[in-house]
Amino acid sequence: MRRPSRRRGSSLPEDCLFCRLYQEGDHVREADGFVAIKDINPRADVHLLVIPERHVPSFREIGEFEPDEAKRMLDFVADTAREAGLEDYRVVLNVGEGAGQTIFHLHWHILGGHTMGLP
Ligand code: AMP
Ligand code: ZN
Repeated sequence: MRRPSRRRGSSLPEDCLFCRLYQEGDHVREADGFVAIKDINPRADVHLLVIPERHVPSFREIGEFEPDEAKRMLDFVADTAREAGLEDYRVVLNVGEGAGQTIFHLHWHILGGHTMGLP
């Protein structure tokens, strides 16, 4: 059995929580290659996470997305917020441990309504 890699806080896709939640999570919304789930520890009245199927550890690796895939991901974030009934909201993306990232599979936070600090 392969041990989780501790190097740079990265995790291998086979033991990545968000790779697993992409496959079998409770999805609020899904479209080709992207899902939205409710954050387990919400920091706002509405706190959703957008998770792409493609595993990259962080936003630093955004270049690994095809241009149309990156555009579809942005559209998915906006459409998810709209469908959640949000007009005004925050989109947060923590990049690296020093910025508060705890799960090393790129994901976007959508925060709407009353917000209790940053995720
Ligand atoms: P970040 O700190 O930016 O890496 O965000 C990770 C987010 O994932 C945090 O807001 C956690 O509350 C959330 N989280 C962790 N485990 C789960 C889970 N099983 N289901 C939903 N959200 C989770
Ligand atoms: Zn992953």
